[in-house]
Amino acid sequence: ATPTAVMVASGIGASQGVLIKGGDALEKAHKVKTIVFDKTGTLTIGKPEVVSAVLLSEFSMEVLCDMAISVEANSEHPIAKAVVAHAKKLRKNFGSCPEEVPDVVDFEVHMGAGVSGKVGDRTVLVGNKRLMHACNVKISSEAEKYISENEILARTCVLVSINGKIAGAFSVSDPVKPEAKRVISFLHSMGITSVIVTGDNHATAIAIANEVGIDQVFAETDPVGKADKVKELQMRGMSVAMVGDGINDSPALVAADVGMAIGAGTDVAIEAADIVLIKSNLEDVITAIDLSRKTMSRIR
Ligand code: ADP
Ligand code: MG
Repeated sequence: ATPTAVMVASGIGASQGVLIKGGDALEKAHKVKTIVFDKTGTLTIGKPEVVSAVLLSEFSMEVLCDMAISVEANSEHPIAKAVVAHAKKLRKNFGSCPEEVPDVVDFEVHMGAGVSGKVGDRTVLVGNKRLMHACNVKISSEAEKYISENEILARTCVLVSINGKIAGAFSVSDPVKPEAKRVISFLHSMGITSVIVTGDNHATAIAIANEVGIDQVFAETDPVGKADKVKELQMRGMSVAMVGDGINDSPALVAADVGMAIGAGTDVAIEAADIVLIKSNLEDVITAIDLSRKTMSRIR
């Protein structure tokens, strides 16, 4: 595109909340055949909430909540914030509980799996099945049942183990954005295939995919894995866009032909992207591609 065409298109984009960082992104976006979407915070609203809690051992709900709060209070993950908020509420219901929770030592973050620490003489793990497997914590059939019942409803389960044994779990819900389904279906009518990549588990990812009409899912991927998926699709000859909001999406945003960041996302993602969707509305994925198609057809 000519510098003038790029300037005009960028101006139109900006007025609609689509920030295009230069002519290259604008030129590439019209060729996009596949769009890879991150799940959490991109297809979903990104404000997870705990919808249920269950006891899975002899420990009381009070102990379960205390342990979960103590460890998760040290985590920045949105799931951690949801667990802490809910556990605090439950704790208040016990009335007798003091405001302070016990201190944690040896706090550790397990990327894409959860967190751990020592609370008094208790070793506590809070996270997904992968974390429990990695730390040799057995998952009882009762726990498996709770997990599968919730994952099929697109919820993510947070397991809590105390001294090597599952003590209980929380189920976390993060609803899809209201426009998600409409956008995926419209992209489809434009000849564009949509894909999900997520660090979350398969069952939850598939449930979300079904909800929005996406049939290709790559779950339990770390940041490098997300970028590898983008490269894999590119190697099949496709021009690929990536839409994401997190630090963990930035390698994939860079790898993609066109990286699009959700405006409400992390600075790292916004930095890594070629296009920023200021309003955080998925409709603007279409706005961006449309603008590119119109600009490119006008000049050829
Ligand atoms: P994504 O943002 O793509 O969903 P993450 O890599 O941030 O992926 O997390 C992957 C999974 O790891 C989460 O779905 C959750 O099961 C687990 N997890 C990560 N951090 C925590 C945490 N602080 N507490 C509980 N679970 C966690
Ligand atoms: Mg995300």
